[in-house]
Amino acid sequence: MNELFLLKLGEMVLKGLNRRRFEDQLLGNLRRRLAPYGSFRMYTLQSICYVEPQNEGCDLEGAYDALKHVFGVASVVRAHSCEKTAEDFVRAAVEYLSDDLRTAKSFKVESKRSDKTFPMTSIQLSQYVGGCLAERFPETPVDVHNPDLTVHLEVRDYAGYVYAGGEAGAGGLPVGSSGRAVALLSGGIDSPVACYMMARRGVRLDCVHFFSYPYTSNEAKDKVLELASLITPYTGKLCVHIVPFTKIQEMLREKCPEPYFTIAMRRFMMRISELVAQRIQAGALVTGESLGQVASQTMEAMACTEDAVTLPVFRPVVGMDKDEIIHTARQIGTFETSILPYEDCCTVFTPRHPRTHPAVAELREIEAGYDFEGLCQEAFQQIERVVIPVRDSGV
Ligand code: ATP
Ligand code: MG
Repeated sequence: MNELFLLKLGEMVLKGLNRRRFEDQLLGNLRRRLAPYGSFRMYTLQSICYVEPQNEGCDLEGAYDALKHVFGVASVVRAHSCEKTAEDFVRAAVEYLSDDLRTAKSFKVESKRSDKTFPMTSIQLSQYVGGCLAERFPETPVDVHNPDLTVHLEVRDYAGYVYAGGEAGAGGLPVGSSGRAVALLSGGIDSPVACYMMARRGVRLDCVHFFSYPYTSNEAKDKVLELASLITPYTGKLCVHIVPFTKIQEMLREKCPEPYFTIAMRRFMMRISELVAQRIQAGALVTGESLGQVASQTMEAMACTEDAVTLPVFRPVVGMDKDEIIHTARQIGTFETSILPYEDCCTVFTPRHPRTHPAVAELREIEAGYDFEGLCQEAFQQIERVVIPVRDSGV
C-alpha cells in the first residue's frame, strides 16, 4: 500500500532530552486508538509520525477521523509514498490527485526536501513537477500566489510523499505525558470542557460524579456517562467513579446553615475526589469552575473548597466567559447533551441566599458539627465504577 498518514508532531518537538518520552507516549496512544481500524506500522522521524496501513483491510476513513482527536498531533494528512525521483513524483501526483487537479480552479506545487542528497533543490523539483502537471491538466492554471489547490511534495529519508489538503490535529500533548488527575464531572456544560482541556495538556483522567438518588434520577446519571463517552475520542478510555451522595446531602440539609450549604457540599466533593485520587495515584483534581459564574465560584468560595484538600486543583475554564466555554463544548460535541434538562445534585438543594464570601474558618466550624472524614470514607467505600470505552469519533 502506498497510502499512509503523516502526522506533524505538536508542541512536544520543543522538548529537549525528554522528547523521547513524549514520542513513546504518543506512539502508545496511537497504537491503542488505531487498533479498531486495522493493522498499522508507526514510527517517528524528526518531527513527523508516519502511520502506514499494513494491508487492504484497514479502515482509513475511520483511522483518519480517530487521528484528528489524538492530542500531541499538530496536523494530519493522508499522503501517498513514491520513489525519490522527479518522474515518480509526477506519476504519483497524477495517479493520486488527478480528480483534485482536474476540478481545482488553480494549483501550485510546493516541495520540502529533508534528504539533502536529493539532486534537485526544492524549487527545481516544484518547477519540474508543476510544469509536467500543467501539461497534463491544461484546463487548470498555475497560480503560485493564491492557488485553489496546493500539491505538496516531500523528499524524506526513506521515500517521497505526495499529498494535498490535510487538516489541523487536536494539538496539545499526548495524554499521559503530564500525569494523572481526577476530574469532577457533573452533567453541566463546564466540566466536560474542563476535562477536554486538561487531557489536551497531556493529563490522563479519571472522572468522579456525585449522584443523589432519588433526588437526581437515573437519567441524570446516564447523561453524565454519555458526556464521559463523548469525550473519550480525546481522553482515551475513562473510568467514572459514581459516588452515592444522598446521605451527605440529607445530613447537610439538616445540620448545615442554609447559606453555607453549597460550599459545605463542595468541600465533601473535593475531599472524596481526593480519596479517589490517592487510590489511583493521581496528582491533581480538576473542576469546571469559572470565576464569578455562580455564588460558589467566587475567590473566597474557591479558597474554602480548596481548603478541604491538599492536592492542587486545576480549573482550566476559570478565566473563560460562558460563551467561550459553550463554543468549546459545541466544538467537542458535548453541548447538546449538557443542556438536556436533567437535574444535578447541586441544583436540588440550592440555598435561597448563598453566602458568596465565606471564610474558611466558618466552614471548619460548621464541619465540627458532623463527622466529615467518616462520611467521606463511607461514601468512598460505596463508589460504583463504570469503565467507558473509547467511542468512534465519527458518531
Ligand atoms: P458544570 O457546568 O460543569 O456543571 P456549573 O457551572 O454547573 O458547572 P457548579 O454546579 O457550581 O457549576 O459546579 C462546579 C464544578 O463542580 C463543576 O464544574 C464540576 O467540576 C463539579 N461538580 C458539580 N456538581 C458535580 C457532581 N454532581 N458530580 C461531580 N462534580 C460536580
Ligand atoms: Mg453543574
